[in-house]
Amino acid sequence: MLAVTEPGVETITAMVCTQLMKTALIENAVGYFAHLDPAPMLIVQPKEAAAEQFSKERITPLIRATPVLRELIGTKKTRSAEETLLYKAFPGGVLALAGAGSPDNLARRPVKRVFCDETDKYPITREGDPIGLADERMATYVGALSVRACSPTIEGESLIESSFLEGDQRQASAACPECDHRQFLDFFKHIQWDKELDEDGNVIAHHPRTAQVYCEACGVGWSEGQRLTALGTIRWHQTRRYRCCDKHGDPIAAYAAAWKAGASAADAVALIWDWWEGPRHAVYRARCPDCGTWPVTNEHASFTAGKVFSPWTRDAPPKIAAKWLSSKNDPDKRVKFDNTQLGKPHKRSSSKEVVAELLAARAEVWAAEVPDGVGVITVGGDTQDDRVELEFVGWGLNEESWSLLYVIVEGDTSKKETWDEVDRQLKRTFRRADGREFAVEAACIDSGGHRAKEVYEFSKARLGRKVWATKGASDRNGKRSPLWPTVRPSNRTRTVFKPIIIGVNSAKDTLRARLAFTEPGPGYMHFSSKRELSWYEQLTAERLIPKVASGRVFQIWDCPKGKANEATDCRVNAMAALAGLIQLGMKLNAVVLAVTAAIQAAKPTPAKTVPAEGAARPAAPAKPTKFAKQSGSWMKRRR
Ligand SMILES: [Zn+2]
Ligand SMILES: [Zn+2]
Repeated sequence: MLAVTEPGVETITAMVCTQLMKTALIENAVGYFAHLDPAPMLIVQPKEAAAEQFSKERITPLIRATPVLRELIGTKKTRSAEETLLYKAFPGGVLALAGAGSPDNLARRPVKRVFCDETDKYPITREGDPIGLADERMATYVGALSVRACSPTIEGESLIESSFLEGDQRQASAACPECDHRQFLDFFKHIQWDKELDEDGNVIAHHPRTAQVYCEACGVGWSEGQRLTALGTIRWHQTRRYRCCDKHGDPIAAYAAAWKAGASAADAVALIWDWWEGPRHAVYRARCPDCGTWPVTNEHASFTAGKVFSPWTRDAPPKIAAKWLSSKNDPDKRVKFDNTQLGKPHKRSSSKEVVAELLAARAEVWAAEVPDGVGVITVGGDTQDDRVELEFVGWGLNEESWSLLYVIVEGDTSKKETWDEVDRQLKRTFRRADGREFAVEAACIDSGGHRAKEVYEFSKARLGRKVWATKGASDRNGKRSPLWPTVRPSNRTRTVFKPIIIGVNSAKDTLRARLAFTEPGPGYMHFSSKRELSWYEQLTAERLIPKVASGRVFQIWDCPKGKANEATDCRVNAMAALAGLIQLGMKLNAVVLAVTAAIQAAKPTPAKTVPAEGAARPAAPAKPTKFAKQSGSWMKRRR
């Protein structure tokens, strides 16, 4: 409601769960403007019948109950012959209501303000997008305002979601009543309840009645009274990712990093945002840490929030938890839960459900940089104009993997200094608990985008270290290309350098399937607790969309507009680097077994347990030193 009068705002999007005052936003804005800043206004509902119902059940009581409106709207002075349920006149303006299914009504008279309610229920018309049609009516007005409100539906298909992503993506923080730490409340991250476990640690019973919000900083569970107190401290923050001063900014990730690094919540907030407040507006504007400007415009203020922000008792944490438990294993109920409770679009995946928050919840803390199961490390790199993102992946038996490290090398990628730093990163070594050092065996760097030449040069000079420039296969004919090309590129002809064409779609099929694995073992992905939620969101951002080629429909992976997918590209390239090693003759399992056998050999004989008679003795300890010194010894074996 503050955004309605925030200077500079032209569009407002509210993508929120049900019963979170979306309708009140429209009612109050309409009432405010009719009284204090009159002009022609239009409310759009999915159908004309819904518009009539809205007029009867919402607008009429609003006018009746509000003295200033009662005097202005529908009095004898202004009542005209036209006055109907769908048309109300007042001094200086009118309020029209229309159904989104009747585009003729939408395109009739010019209006200054448009309120689109329940956008995701709008019918598909031949004339196209009803929101766009309604907005076209505002063309002649200066200071026009377009407001859209709805719970989202399916990701990539939801009108309110695409509108939200176009905006500045505001999220709300609430301060902990115990420690004052501000957090962006999230059902999966902050609400917990008692669970009964069996001896193996499997959950055998849930107690949703014990559900509470737990502070991410001090760990205190909030009583319902404390939760309501916290809701009273809500402030909205622009969270859209941006570019400024040749760097990219991710407000939410930067905030998490700042307080994890030890800053107080207040200091961490002040590092990332400026509090911008006036008599009728209040918002945390994202600020570039380098130049101090506000890189994210507020022309389109977009908001999202779930039930965890609801002040109603019927939406208290125990109720949301119970709803989650009854819907989590039922796909249809799950869609409804995401939309109506979380206020988030439901991610439809071709295979199994993959949810960023659930992946984040299983992150691990490892005893050393390199967990014991790892045999080989590869790197996948994604090149942007202003940075290179690198993921270091440890590979174990049957491609079980560990996300060892994720590094963002900031800097103009047309400059040598940036690539020098990338090189330094690739030369990093990693230690296992027993002290063994690991180096990077191979790396694939994506050369798509504007920096193909730079990536080629970088990799060409480092082919001996197996640093490969890659490019995604177009898969235009609908066929999946193999992850690593079966025809070996002839790198001997160094004058014509060509990137390695990798099958990104088949890699992403594999990736999505592996993300759905829940038990450690072949293909399972282990994540480090050091990754932020935004990283998991990037890893799960893409979805399959149908493409038509030569009369056939096939599915390709696509990143929805406004979403980031760097983590996906990095992982695909790390997978490609492993595939490249295998193509060159590496036997992954044999290498892993040799490297992990070396741990047992290096470990001192366990003191506590006496080995049983005839127990296998540790393998001869000759290998470890050899392996530590000589990466890539499998190449020799092949020859
Ligand atoms: Zn706290
Ligand atoms: Zn800047």
